[in-house]
Amino acid sequence: MTRQLHHHVGGRERPGGDSRHGDVYDPATGQVSARVPLADAAEVRAAVDAAHAAFPAWAATPPLQRARVMFRLRALVERDADALARTITSEHGKTLSDARGEVTRGMEVIEFASGIPHLLKGEHSAEVGRGVDSWSERAPLGVVAGVTPFNFPVMVPLWMAPVALACGNAFVLKPSEKVPSAALHLAALLVEAGLPDGMFNVVHGGREAVDALLDDERVQALSFVGSTPVARYLYERGSAAGKRVQALGGAKNHAVVLPDADIGLAADALLGAGYGSAGERCMAISVAVCVGDATADALVAALAPKVAALRIAPGLDDADMGPLVDAAHRERVRGYIDLGVAEGARLVIDGRAHGCVGRDGFFLGGSLFDHVAPEMRIYREEIFGPVLCVVRVPDFEAALALVDAHEYGNGTAVFTRSGGAAREFARRVQAGMVGINVPIPVPMAFHSFGGWKRSLFGPLHMHGPDGVRFYTRLKTVTARWPEGAAGAEFVMPTMR
Ligand code: NAD
Repeated sequence: MTRQLHHHVGGRERPGGDSRHGDVYDPATGQVSARVPLADAAEVRAAVDAAHAAFPAWAATPPLQRARVMFRLRALVERDADALARTITSEHGKTLSDARGEVTRGMEVIEFASGIPHLLKGEHSAEVGRGVDSWSERAPLGVVAGVTPFNFPVMVPLWMAPVALACGNAFVLKPSEKVPSAALHLAALLVEAGLPDGMFNVVHGGREAVDALLDDERVQALSFVGSTPVARYLYERGSAAGKRVQALGGAKNHAVVLPDADIGLAADALLGAGYGSAGERCMAISVAVCVGDATADALVAALAPKVAALRIAPGLDDADMGPLVDAAHRERVRGYIDLGVAEGARLVIDGRAHGCVGRDGFFLGGSLFDHVAPEMRIYREEIFGPVLCVVRVPDFEAALALVDAHEYGNGTAVFTRSGGAAREFARRVQAGMVGINVPIPVPMAFHSFGGWKRSLFGPLHMHGPDGVRFYTRLKTVTARWPEGAAGAEFVMPTMR
């Protein structure tokens, strides 16, 4: 039966309008599982109204009480972790164990936000002048919005909302219309945790809903995670309208394999990082840069049988990799495999031939390309599917130059046994997150997540210390308590 979804505004369900709806698919069967309302400007305005009305009382609530809501939310997410993971799998397609990992990573941001009284502590200087003290404190912004992608229906909303709420802001979430159900589950948990009505709202939709958030003057800040063209659009329009924007975009993450690397370890790491979640991760490794032909030959020989043997099945089954999110995305990825062949790369394993045969879902096997050249589109563009490209370079400097020349700079990794080479790579490489023998170097919640170059628009990364900076503005107070009149001063105050 097809479920009818709703928005979540002012602490309760709000049905969508009659006409505009989208289909939500179960990628493992290819069947429509739900209908999602697509908000127009008036529906978005109603969510911002609710957030705007709720904000002052929440901002005036002591941080410790706000933190206690986060403590309760953390317990509720843990209680419902399995149900949340099943929802992720049923709309995104990733395996259940991968979805559970996603829920855990989201929960860790709630744990971070539970320490908000400590994180909001300002700085204090006594005696900046005689009898004068000065301190700085962090104030919430007001109504803030989040726009999230299809590939992490729980984790990415939780990168944003717990920190924003704990800092004292009201939140409006516009999740991906491809995976809308998990956001509604999170909204219900926030109600159960005791968050006041209106503090967390969910409006579904696409560009029209996002534009309505951009156009609303009451929305002070916007966090975005998604593809680079949309990230750039949001950043430019949001910034021009005077909003604070952090917009995380696409990626093409390179793993550099040096000749001294443990090839078995590197192959296993790249298998998980390239094909886990069907390659639909912004931190997926999509390019292996091998230094020397011998390294490339050994890596391809180790990887090829493993890619061919990937267990591809519905995410609820015991699988390495589930289906892609929808039919259009699968066609797009297939198109890139066709293109790579036409461009002259060597297709070692052809995922088009070994999906999940006999199934109706959006399955596609893993593909491995060797002899990929930097001018090929399969190298330059983000494919966002189970396709790994091997590029051969002569030496370390050429590997570094290749990574640096790419327009994206989200994550990168180096595989080596040399501490000196790893240190040199980490210090010089132009990317926001670097792994040393770690293929997916996603920072923990108490550090911040973000890329460089066209993988991030805006100065601040997400969650961790940068998250607190993003969702607050600094106020600096200078105070004195003089006894009696001090007389007028007409010169710039300086220390005497
Ligand atoms: P997307 O850009 O298509 O959509 C992201 C969000 O933007 C969705 O909520 C969508 O409804 C909305 N949107 C889509 N088109 C829009 C438009 N024209 N105007 C306004 N809003 C629009 O991305 P996706 O396909 O959902 O997610 C995959 C992309 O996200 C990949 O490029 C991936 O690399 C990126 N991603 C990046 C990170 C990161 O941390 N850098 C993390 C996850 C995903």
